[in-house]
Amino acid sequence: MKKVALVFVLAVFVPSLVLAWLAVRSLRDQQFLLERQQSLLYQGVADGLARDVLAALAEDQRVFAETASTLLRDRDPFEVARTFDDQLRRQWPLAQVGFAVTLTGEILSPSPAARPEARLFCDDNGRFLTNRESVEVYLNNPKLLANAMPAQAATTTAPDAGVDFLRRYGLSKAKATRNVIPQQVAGVPQKLGAAAIDSEQQFSKVEASEAEFRQLIGQDTDGALARFVDNKLSVLFWWRAARQPQLILGAQLDLPRLARELGVLVQQVAPELRGEICAALLDDTGKPAAVSHPGVRANWKRPFVATEIGETLPHWEIGVYLLDPARLTRSAETVKLTLGLLIAVLVLAIGVGSWLIVADLNRQLKLARQKTDFVSNVSHELKTPLTSIRMFSELLAEDRVTEPGKQRSYLGIITAETARLTRLINNVLDFARIERGEKQYEFRQCDFVGLARETVETYRPQLEAGGFRLACEWPASRQVVKADRDAVAQVIVNLLSNAEKYSDRRRDIEVRLELKTSPLPCVELTISDRGLGVPRDCGERIFEQFYRAHDSLSSGIQGSGLGLTLARQIALAHGGDVVYAPREGGGSCFTLRLPQSPEQTGNGPGI
Ligand code: ADP
Repeated sequence: MKKVALVFVLAVFVPSLVLAWLAVRSLRDQQFLLERQQSLLYQGVADGLARDVLAALAEDQRVFAETASTLLRDRDPFEVARTFDDQLRRQWPLAQVGFAVTLTGEILSPSPAARPEARLFCDDNGRFLTNRESVEVYLNNPKLLANAMPAQAATTTAPDAGVDFLRRYGLSKAKATRNVIPQQVAGVPQKLGAAAIDSEQQFSKVEASEAEFRQLIGQDTDGALARFVDNKLSVLFWWRAARQPQLILGAQLDLPRLARELGVLVQQVAPELRGEICAALLDDTGKPAAVSHPGVRANWKRPFVATEIGETLPHWEIGVYLLDPARLTRSAETVKLTLGLLIAVLVLAIGVGSWLIVADLNRQLKLARQKTDFVSNVSHELKTPLTSIRMFSELLAEDRVTEPGKQRSYLGIITAETARLTRLINNVLDFARIERGEKQYEFRQCDFVGLARETVETYRPQLEAGGFRLACEWPASRQVVKADRDAVAQVIVNLLSNAEKYSDRRRDIEVRLELKTSPLPCVELTISDRGLGVPRDCGERIFEQFYRAHDSLSSGIQGSGLGLTLARQIALAHGGDVVYAPREGGGSCFTLRLPQSPEQTGNGPGI
């Protein structure tokens, strides 16, 4: 048993507890896991919007090149160039200023005197566009980078390859801090902590390079570049005609107008997520230039996730904000609670299951032990009468006993031992039948007083031969019960036989039959002895199969542990019971209770 329990504990209980402990530990990470899932989802949204914005800018760049080319068609390029600012703004409203410069460093348009914007533009960009000054610019020219870089570098990570290219051309890079710090960063392991996330996000991936205008445009036909002048962003598109490569036509974009145009894209943030998140196009100062949910208030500098748009709009970002930041915590709490409950139920189920298994195992082992005891008890009970029967029948058969008195006494012993054997075998057979559900009762109306008296009187000689004093008390009237006569007689004999077996020196047995009316009308046959009595706490257990309160070894009294089990089962089948009570002054009282038949009229049929 101990071994089985140990194996059970090691194979089932300990692993279950370890699993439960691991599950409880994983609960602590629920909020983080949820945040990771959400951040991956929303990062996808931000990345997608940033790509859309870049695509829209590329389209604007294409439209600008087409507009410039249309203006030049069939006309003298230098003549067009001189009024390019006016013409371009008329044709293409996104242009704040149109400019035309030659590679030799002459600004043909705009004229600083024409309007305040033109003068400001010339002040800010004049020296740079005429190649007299190298400035920090954000260059978005993948063609230029790809052409200049070796093939192997082009397939490696783009930022490093870009650094190589810039170094070769004598350009320098500067790391700038971002305007917004997202709360979540996809790809940074949580164990590195919030500080790592912040430092990862602190610096912008969009980097400026210092160069001259001529150097930047190289041999290309068009491009976009951005630069900060007095902390103010200026985005320039440029283009040159194939037939006049010395002339560069360009436009400085009207950023408020561009923001309005791009705002339309932000409005179309993933419709299925509109109830959860708000997207914003943040300008280079971290302020929202366009918001998907007008009127929403948020800490714009701390989006949930964010993506930088790129070199064309340096330090502009798409930020995604949670409309209800507490919802994530609430969901995590709900998940935690549900999983916690599940784990608790699981552990409880394992605990209860284990307890039931161990209890059942215990019961089975005990039953197995009792069955072994039973076999040895029954064998012994069979052997003892058989030995006497054989001994006395041999004596009689060989005519070694001639005295008639002795002969009668020996025959009496043989009869008594045969009756004992029959009783034992009947008990075993009946028990087996009841266990298999095959026991058939023949219920008939009968007089219980007559039946009990007859049975007790049949047993009397055996008791008196053993030195017992048997006192009986019978009611005067007959009491009708519906019963199987043989089965009821077997119960009475079992009780009498026990009274005989478990009596010591005080050999005094009392049989009393009483009528009871409450709670239901019934007859009660009580057999009391002055014997060993039943040990305390065993009053109910003695009715269990194979259970013996006085085992053969310690008491020397033989038995199978089936007599009372059978007596109770038979009584129950009759709608009655057999109960035990200690007898006042020492000994035991066993009572067989049977319900009175409704036809108790005193002259019922078949009695
Ligand atoms: P057994 O064959 O062992 O007598 P029973 O089922 O008839 O089996 O009885 C079960 C146990 O109840 C006995 O082993 C004994 O310990 C106890 N018992 C039964 N009758 C008496 C009695 N009259 N006095 C004391 N103990 C009794």
